Amino acid sequence: MDKKIDNTEKEYLLLLWEENVCPECGNIIPEGKRVRSGTKSDGGFCSLDCYAKYHKSQLLERERNLQRILNQIRNN
Ligand SMILES: [Zn+2]
Repeated sequence: MDKKIDNTEKEYLLLLWEENVCPECGNIIPEGKRVRSGTKSDGGFCSLDCYAKYHKSQLLERERNLQRILNQIRNN
């Protein structure tokens, strides 16, 4: 399992999209409220705040946060 680093973020974003979970705060996104830039692989967020916060942070920080959120989902 030696995946390319730059694919990881998009994979996480797609997974969270399928789960309907915000990649920034980890909350469920209410139906019809998803904030998105256009492409699915850029992720969908629960609010403009989360969208802005997410895109302001460093890639490493984002990936760590995404991993944490995904672990939460998997442990539920
Ligand atoms: Zn959020």
